[in-house]
Amino acid sequence: FLAGRTALVTGGTSGIGLAIAEALAAAGCRVSINGLGDAAQIAAALSGIEAHGTQPARHDPADLRDPEAIDAMMARCAADGGIDILVNCAGMQIAKPLEALPDGAWEAIIAVNLSAAYHSMRRALPAMAAKGFGRVVNIASVHGLVASAGKAPYVASKFGLVGLSKALALEYAAAGSRETGGVTVNCICPGWVETPLIEPQIEARMNGGSRDDGVRALLREKQPSLRMSRPEEIADSVLWLCRREAHNITGATIAIDGAWTAQ
Ligand code: NAD
Repeated sequence: FLAGRTALVTGGTSGIGLAIAEALAAAGCRVSINGLGDAAQIAAALSGIEAHGTQPARHDPADLRDPEAIDAMMARCAADGGIDILVNCAGMQIAKPLEALPDGAWEAIIAVNLSAAYHSMRRALPAMAAKGFGRVVNIASVHGLVASAGKAPYVASKFGLVGLSKALALEYAAAGSRETGGVTVNCICPGWVETPLIEPQIEARMNGGSRDDGVRALLREKQPSLRMSRPEEIADSVLWLCRREAHNITGATIAIDGAWTAQ
């Protein structure tokens, strides 16, 4: 069902987004990624994705803080065969209490984690509806469902992303059919996942001990399974949402959080 589809994964140069791009390539999709990084990191990401699939992968350099750059990226994708699957995975985090947040933290976090998803969906969803098939998977967070102290802009951005996704799921719920696969918009809400994003928070809990001590302390605070997720495990759930059989899963938030939000 996914073979030959086109996918755009933001945040595809690192962490969860890269694992999603690799999984979509392995399922037969033609994958474009967006994300920051130096030339070597981008080349390594593209060759990793290509090694998982059979089609060439592409990188788009748009800075997601800039709506005009997002529009240009979406126009390039439309000209290059359109987008069947859009994964908004780019994100940033500054974990500090309100008084310690630097100037511009709010604007940057809201722009990358929330507004960028709005701008990309604005361009992608009408074309998906016209074709009768489309999948949008937004990588939100447990912090789109519950708050933690010391992350106010991040929590606000992820709650916003959950609300935005539900509103657009409603607007496109009747597009397409069971046969075409329909158009769905969902959020995946991970707890802790082993990626570069959370390294500062691990370091902050090492207390002179090892990295493993920092990881254990982080998990004990909130994630009852006491296990991190791996990026490829999050990617697996994205693939599942892209299947035809998932046509009626829309407007959902899927927590992958070791029972964090069950508490
Ligand atoms: P990561 O730091 O490995 O990847 C973040 C990606 O976003 C990178 O590709 C980066 O280049 C891209 N990005 C950041 N700013 C950008 C900008 N201005 N323009 C374009 N791209 C930009 O982090 P990750 O852990 O893989 O995070 C991916 C997503 O998962 C994020 O939205 C994050 O909030 C979410 N998430 C992560 C965790 C976790 O524990 N790691 C938990 C819940 C949710």
